[in-house]
Amino acid sequence: MSNFSKVILKKGKEESLLRFHPWVFSGAIDRIEGNVEEGDVVTVHTSDLRFLGIGHCGIGSIAVRIFSFQDINPDLNFWCSKFKAAYELRKRIGLISKKETNVFRLVHGEGDGMPGLIVDFYNGTAVLQAHTVGMWLIRNMLAEALQITLGDQLTAIYDKSSKTLPFKASIEPVYGYLLGGNSTREVMEDGNRFLVDWEEGQKTGFFVDQRENRKLLSQYAFGKDVLNMFCYTGGFSFSAMRGGANLVHSVDSSAKAIEMTKQNVELNFPGDPRHTAFAADAFDFMHDIKDKYDLIILDPPAFAKHKNALNQALQGYKKLNSRAFQQIRPGGVLFTFSCSQVVTKTNFREAVFSAAALSKRNVRILHQLSQPGDHPINIYHPEGEYLKGLVLYVE
Ligand code: SAH
Repeated sequence: MSNFSKVILKKGKEESLLRFHPWVFSGAIDRIEGNVEEGDVVTVHTSDLRFLGIGHCGIGSIAVRIFSFQDINPDLNFWCSKFKAAYELRKRIGLISKKETNVFRLVHGEGDGMPGLIVDFYNGTAVLQAHTVGMWLIRNMLAEALQITLGDQLTAIYDKSSKTLPFKASIEPVYGYLLGGNSTREVMEDGNRFLVDWEEGQKTGFFVDQRENRKLLSQYAFGKDVLNMFCYTGGFSFSAMRGGANLVHSVDSSAKAIEMTKQNVELNFPGDPRHTAFAADAFDFMHDIKDKYDLIILDPPAFAKHKNALNQALQGYKKLNSRAFQQIRPGGVLFTFSCSQVVTKTNFREAVFSAAALSKRNVRILHQLSQPGDHPINIYHPEGEYLKGLVLYVE
């Protein structure tokens, strides 16, 4: 048995771990044997000292995040086997060595049995984001394991953890390269080219999770007038243009995002007059769009980051969607999303349904969308299902 500090649970509190849920809440803990600091590796045990799992210790309400239910030694070999399993899954999905797509998520936290770790792959550069101190402390070992797993497919590793680490952690992370340096920023997704700024951009630089939904959108775009609201670097806009849209308007409140959208459009469709980008607030822009658009995409940022902001977030979704329902052209199609983890599928549906009802129009669901296979949901950790989308036909 490995020699880490032991977290002993209260009697009967082992149920969720026996069902492979990877979180141990602080209220379930009876005592800790040994001195433990945030980020340390600990083993978790039942009240009669049976081994349950091994994981990283945190200081919030999630006291331990389990990365193995077996009594392993979390050394380089162990992390290599984790990355290898993650890589094999992406291979199985058909995302590795694809000619027209060289951007994908390699590690999706709990979905890959690595709670607290995100790794996105951008045409040779892996962008690593630690959401826990435990993962951040072992970043150099993780970088080594990544190199072993990806071999010469990997040219650089960028650590972008400083904004995602817990607020109170007493460490001072800085952004920086763990391997290589500034390399090519151009990636391709389904034949569309994007410049990705992992240093300054949002998240790891790109919203990889909308890949399949962007592809679906292109099937609805032919001959249509499209509004891509919350466009960020323009993903849905190119899908629409690729699909033969008549006109595409991209809107984002960030001037920088609009600059990047314009650059990316130029890269894919130089001089194409169908596209215009606006730096504007969504609620203002949609105040009066009349019946200008046949296809509207609403992909806002997470309106609720915490449970106590849920009600306000649902009001936000309702308001936004009702503007689209009221103004979209008859026969229009609305792609509407929520990426807030605390907003459930049911919450989101209800918000969209009440928005539809306000418009008194006949609305039907064509597709119910989620995140793609490189953002897998661990079946024992349903909290991992965060991206929800509805495609609606509005008469
Ligand atoms: N659809 C994008 C990702 C959207 S991320 C893609 O496929 O890549 C959410 C975006 O909403 C961010 O770019 C952010 O700048 C923008 N945003 C946030 N609040 C906004 C507001 N009130 N009005 C318009 N855009 C906003």
